[in-house]
Amino acid sequence: MDDRTAGAGTRSGQGMRRHILAALACICALYAHAQERSVSITIDDVPNVHLYVADGNVSRLLKKLDSMSLPVAIFINEGHLKQNKSFEQNKKLLESWISKPYVTVGNHSYSHENYGETSFEAFSEDVLKGEELTRKMAENAGKKLEYFRFPFNGMGKDSAEQARMHAFLTEHHYISTPFTVESEDWLFTQLYEKALKEGKVEEAKAIGNRYVDLSLKLFDHFDKIALKVTGKPVKQIYLCHDNRLNTDYLPVLIKKLKEKQYRMISLTEALSDDAYRLPLHYNGNWGFSWIYRWVKDVGERRSFMQSEPSDKEAQQAYETLTKNKK
Ligand SMILES: [Zn+2]
Repeated sequence: MDDRTAGAGTRSGQGMRRHILAALACICALYAHAQERSVSITIDDVPNVHLYVADGNVSRLLKKLDSMSLPVAIFINEGHLKQNKSFEQNKKLLESWISKPYVTVGNHSYSHENYGETSFEAFSEDVLKGEELTRKMAENAGKKLEYFRFPFNGMGKDSAEQARMHAFLTEHHYISTPFTVESEDWLFTQLYEKALKEGKVEEAKAIGNRYVDLSLKLFDHFDKIALKVTGKPVKQIYLCHDNRLNTDYLPVLIKKLKEKQYRMISLTEALSDDAYRLPLHYNGNWGFSWIYRWVKDVGERRSFMQSEPSDKEAQQAYETLTKNKK
């Protein structure tokens, strides 16, 4: 080997080492980020009094959560207590949710109106009407009622309406609660319940599994986008509902998330993430993920939204189902 080739060999050896080091740094960063995966589970539209009656005066979802040792936050519509004639019993159901030590309590308004489609006066009244029993029950359980979530995540039709309601909520010591991941569980549950009703157990199982699959894809999607938008992993907030589908499949989803090294954290811990102090660049009433709202450039936001995984087949089946119901 002459001097020239020896020199080239050394240079290419150095180059190779640099590549290896860069690759290692990359793997380490990915690993560190994987280690930092965390999510707070939040359940809206609590309590589901129809499910409670159908299951023989028991909330099977609550029972399952009891055995899972993870924090959850619930968002309550007190109006649900009047959806059937068993008001006293429904009150007890609500109390049983609120009294669980692992449950953080939130108000979701009394009647689940969309703020963007009603007036400030009507909506603020509905917020206060929605806390009458909840606040007392929370106090009895030694808890504060400090979280509010807008129905449909519609925070008002423009920035003026949004600022006005934000001031109202602050005045009443509420924190407006964001979410980052949701997976159309409200749609899947309709298909799931229909299949169960028709005795199509295998079809129901397939729907449940598709819900879990889509949810996991969405977690991946929002983890990636959060990293692009904020430069670091975000403590995710998952939004789902008190329904039949989650009674059977939320435990499956949580198990899979744990397998992917997600840490299950409280809403308070999730909100300690600085990302939730970022400015919101969207002032409309659509209820999409807060991660999209942190994106200033409209074109970039749109392209992130267009890359969101979805289950077209399930959406189509849902459309057919709701059309037939009309
Ligand atoms: Zn809701």
